[in-house]
Amino acid sequence: MVVRYCECCKTETDHRETLERKPSSYDTKKSIYGRLMLLIHEFINGGHYYNMNRYLTCKACGHKILENMGNEFE
Ligand SMILES: [Zn+2]
Repeated sequence: MVVRYCECCKTETDHRETLERKPSSYDTKKSIYGRLMLLIHEFINGGHYYNMNRYLTCKACGHKILENMGNEFE
């Protein structure tokens, strides 16, 4: 649990941390070639952590903030 300022609540609230996969340009391609390229792309870039977005979600109102400030995956 992380305490952060929430724009909606206009105060500091408890936030839940979540990780979501970043949408990739390859995701829109439904072909086998596109899927293969996605796998190769992720492999080259060191696995799925490279493509993760870190979000903080306000527990009071559900407002979501994108926060990719940390270097814990590098
Ligand atoms: Zn809030």
